[in-house]
Amino acid sequence: MEKVIIVGTGCAGLTAAIYAARANLEPLVLEGREPGGQLTTTTLVENFPGFVDGIDGPQLIMNMKGQAERFGAKFAYSHLNDFERKPDGTLRVLVDEEWVETQSLIIASGASARYIGLPEEKSLVGHGLTSCATCDGAFYRNVPVAVVGGGDSAAEEATFLTRFASKVYLIHRRDELRASKIMADRALANPKVEPVWNSVVTQYLTDETGEVRAVKLKNTVTGAESELEVKCVFVAIGHTPNTAPFKGKLDMDANGYLIRHNGTHTNVPGVFAAGDVADPVYRQAITAAGQGCAAALDAEKYLANHE
Ligand code: NAP
Repeated sequence: MEKVIIVGTGCAGLTAAIYAARANLEPLVLEGREPGGQLTTTTLVENFPGFVDGIDGPQLIMNMKGQAERFGAKFAYSHLNDFERKPDGTLRVLVDEEWVETQSLIIASGASARYIGLPEEKSLVGHGLTSCATCDGAFYRNVPVAVVGGGDSAAEEATFLTRFASKVYLIHRRDELRASKIMADRALANPKVEPVWNSVVTQYLTDETGEVRAVKLKNTVTGAESELEVKCVFVAIGHTPNTAPFKGKLDMDANGYLIRHNGTHTNVPGVFAAGDVADPVYRQAITAAGQGCAAALDAEKYLANHE
């Protein structure tokens, strides 16, 4: 019987692991399908407090993992497929093909940024293709960039990017934004933002160093094709929370994000949620880390009360 199983090794899961390990709970941490989470797909992280010159995302994750291991966290390259609460109040978790018993569970399985689905796409992430303006916007000063999407994220990122870029093309597949009026108005009123309506990206074009230099566009109404020179494409077409195994068991909002009731508690006693899997709003490395800490403290208190 484990005391706590932690699902996910992004900032939330690893911070939960550090705190749980330091509380002598010897957490079992499941790496999941995207070990290290979204930070492993970025390059320099400049906004995580404590690193004056920034730190590479993968290095930050390796540091956190090493820190958790130092205090006794156990890691497994495994995936959670299911869980259930037993009549005695403990839990059992289907880890890959094997049921493992545990007293508590911290879900920090994150959310995966959605990309367009073009063949060469994933290899360009970090080379002029990203899903995070907050992370990467400052690298593209005084050059043209593009945001793909028409929701609040796209509007917010386009507005944010005007601080750095010379021009922000907002590429949307329709001729009106889905974003809330206030955020859409703010983006479109900015002289640096130029909407590219009724358009989808059909190809990324790279320079001799492999960095994005332009995108190929197709007009969704006329079918006309064109090329647009940009140094970076910020894809903002939504995130998908990794909550498939919890459907019908844990409370979720309409978009599949876990709903927390008191601190990090879910609706099932002994099951806690931290980070992007339960946070469609902030989605930052540091907020995920903070929530991971909170979940470990909540789990520790829960275990003490149920001893
Ligand atoms: P979203 O509202 O689902 O919008 C996704 C956008 O991407 C839509 O405009 C959609 O086009 C477009 N899209 C989807 N798939 C596409 C594809 N394959 N190719 C091209 N375009 C595609 O996602 P979001 O903007 O990330 O927002 C998610 C939630 O978080 C929303 O509830 C939003 O209000 C909230 N949010 C709030 C804030 C804030 O309040 N500060 C900031 C960000 C997000 P269509 O419009 O044609 O469907």
